[in-house]
Amino acid sequence: MFDQTLITEDAESSLLVSSAAPAAEPKDPHGFAAAQAVALTPLAPPERLRALRQALDGRIVFTHGFGIEGQLIFHWICEHDLDVEVVTLDTGRLFPETYALWAETERRYGRRIHAIYPNQLALEALVARQGVDGFYDSKEKREACCSVRKVRPLDRALAGAQAWITGARADQTEVRKDAGLIGYDESRGLLKFNPLFDWTREAVLAAVEADGIPFNALHARGFVSIGCAPCTRASAAGESERSGRWWWEQDGHRECGLHLPRSGARVRTA
Ligand code: SF4
Repeated sequence: MFDQTLITEDAESSLLVSSAAPAAEPKDPHGFAAAQAVALTPLAPPERLRALRQALDGRIVFTHGFGIEGQLIFHWICEHDLDVEVVTLDTGRLFPETYALWAETERRYGRRIHAIYPNQLALEALVARQGVDGFYDSKEKREACCSVRKVRPLDRALAGAQAWITGARADQTEVRKDAGLIGYDESRGLLKFNPLFDWTREAVLAAVEADGIPFNALHARGFVSIGCAPCTRASAAGESERSGRWWWEQDGHRECGLHLPRSGARVRTA
């Protein structure tokens, strides 16, 4: 039996809509985030998740990318029956193994993971403009594809949320290290919470194996960080964790825009 998350579709915006009333925003969100960081840091990640849920009365959204970190966080959300919306950004270019893991995970936990898709018109315009694999041509075209297939769908998924849970770890990239355990994302107007911030990949793997949590079959074939199929390859021994992402780019920060510091107007809507 699948959990039926409260979701309605608007033809224009496809916003996620919760039955909960909009939460009051803390008067000093940066101060609130700093206080939460002090309170949450000594706790184990499952307790961090529970504590943040108790501290907030608004929507909390977890974006699941089916990496090992995400699988572990999803396991804890289900195990503790936390009131957290779980969404995934289906770019349309994922590996067959990722779709298989998605289905296996839903079966195992009996819970639907809500898929957010790119805007149809924006996707058609993108492919018409730069071709179906235009992202190989330049960094600008790659970022345009990531924007249509990932970043804008993420904006919709997070609209109106009070907090965003991610599987980011500090030792993955410099950008992620700067994010901290929890912080206030000015551009999106929400708290960004990384419960595995101070964990290593080895610790995550050990926890996944200890609890028998399913993971992507591609990991056994040398894939470390797994994203879209045309933009991910296996990493060689000794290469960095995200070296298999957009490997043809020489100067890359190996981010698709989801975790980059953003400037500009707030995305959050009432
Ligand atoms: S990872 Fe590649 S296919 Fe996926 S959205 Fe970015 S450029 Fe497009």
